[in-house]
Amino acid sequence: MSGIDGLPPLREVIATHQLSAKKSLGQNFLLDLNLTAKIARAAGDLSGMDVLEVGPGPGGLTRGLLAEGARRVLAVEKDERCLPALDEIARHYEGRLEVINGDALQVDPLEKLTPPIAICANLPYNVGTELLVRWLTPTDWPPFWSTLTLMFQREVAERIVAQPGSKAYGRLALLAQWRCEARIVISLPPSAFTPPPKVSSAVVHLKALPEPRFPADAKTLERVVAMAFNQRRKMLRAALKGLAPDIEEKLLAAGIEPTERAEQVSLEQFCALARVIKG
Ligand code: SAM
Repeated sequence: MSGIDGLPPLREVIATHQLSAKKSLGQNFLLDLNLTAKIARAAGDLSGMDVLEVGPGPGGLTRGLLAEGARRVLAVEKDERCLPALDEIARHYEGRLEVINGDALQVDPLEKLTPPIAICANLPYNVGTELLVRWLTPTDWPPFWSTLTLMFQREVAERIVAQPGSKAYGRLALLAQWRCEARIVISLPPSAFTPPPKVSSAVVHLKALPEPRFPADAKTLERVVAMAFNQRRKMLRAALKGLAPDIEEKLLAAGIEPTERAEQVSLEQFCALARVIKG
C-alpha cells in the first residue's frame, strides 16, 4: 500500500496490468508517488478546481492530483491498456475521476469540466508542444484554464521561459509570456522516469494573466513572430519582407532597428510591430 492514498504502489500496478512502456506513445512513467504529489502541489491549490490531465498512464500523477485535493480530474489516455489501472483509482476516489480513452488532441474538455480549471500533465513528448501551443493561442483571452503545470523535455521548458538574447528565445517564449507568467518549478533527471528518457526534464508552471502584457492582435502577433524566427539569423528587414512592402518603415515605427535579428527583439517590441502592421 502506498502512503499517499492506500492504493498499491505503482510498480505493482504496472506488473499487475502488464504496462510495458511503449515508445510510440511517449511512455516514460513516474513511479514515485512523493514526486507526483510534489508536481500536483506545484499546480497550486487544487481544492475547488477541476483538473484536466493528459496521458495519465498507470495513474501516478492522477493519484497525486486527487490526493492533493482536486475537485474533479478528467484524464484523457490514448492507451487502452491503462484503463483497468485507472478504473481502480476512480473507484477509490468515487465521483472525482473520469477517464476518457482517446486522443487529447480530439477531446473538448469543456464538455466535462467546469471552471476554474487547471491543466496538469506529464505530457507525451510527441504531442506536448502542439497541445501547449493550442492552449496558448485561443482567440479569446482569458482561456478556459487558469494554470498549466506541464512536464517537458528540459530543452522545451527552457524555450518557454527564455529571455531575449538567448538561443532558446523564440516563438514558444513569446506565445507563453505574452499572456502568461511562466517559470520552471521542478527539474528532473532521466532517472526519475521508467524507462529513463535520454534527456532531462522540467516542470513548467504557467499562470494565465487576466489580460495580455501588451496590446496586440493575436493572429497578427503569431504571424509576425513565426516569420521572424523562421529565419532567425537574418536581419528583420529581410526575414519580414513578405509581411509588408514598407517593412523597414514599419519596423522603425515600432521602435525596432531593421538590421536587428529576431533574437534581440523584446515581447513589447513585437507587440508594437503587430499593432503597426495591423494598422
Ligand atoms: N502521467 C503518466 C506518468 O507520469 O507516469 C504517464 C506519462 S507518459 C510521459 C505520457 C502518457 O500519454 C502515456 O500514458 C501515453 O499513453 C499517453 N498519450 C500519448 N499520446 C497521447 C494522446 N494523443 N492523447 C492522450 N494520451 C496520450
